[in-house]
Amino acid sequence: MSTTATPSADSQLRLFARFLREEGLPVTAQRAAVAETLFSSEGHWSVEDLENALRERGEKLGKATIYRTLDLLVKSRLVEELDFGEGFKRYEHRLTRRMGHAHLVCQACGKVEEFQIDEMPAIEARIAREAGFRPTRTRLQIRGLCSTCREKGVTLPQQGLLCPIEVA
Ligand SMILES: [Zn+2]
Ligand SMILES: [Zn+2]
Repeated sequence: MSTTATPSADSQLRLFARFLREEGLPVTAQRAAVAETLFSSEGHWSVEDLENALRERGEKLGKATIYRTLDLLVKSRLVEELDFGEGFKRYEHRLTRRMGHAHLVCQACGKVEEFQIDEMPAIEARIAREAGFRPTRTRLQIRGLCSTCREKGVTLPQQGLLCPIEVA
């Protein structure tokens, strides 16, 4: 995972510091280190990824501290929590994200590809209007087999019930 600093990583860090102060929480060096590491690179970070990246920077932080800081980052809405069905959460900052950012998750190799649905905001607005619903969060995820796995001939086991007509 690359750690090239994004130009606005600093501004995100300042926003997080402001959030912490508003919550009456101190901006500790540890909290800042977790946030800075996450904001400094695009990607879908697991707690383990973060722990390793922090260690490379010479910061030795326990998982509990990282988890607690991530909870605060999610609460601040600067970071989004993701679940790709791996049994643990991943985290992604919302720095350069446009609306309609979605994920293709390969169930065989675990690769996550991103794609953009430019029509998504319009679709969302229409659905909200028709249902009288005020959306706060939309996350589209498509699970299946990536092109590399498909080329290799990987198949996924059948899950769930078969249609009775198919069984007959
Ligand atoms: Zn794959
Ligand atoms: Zn993503």
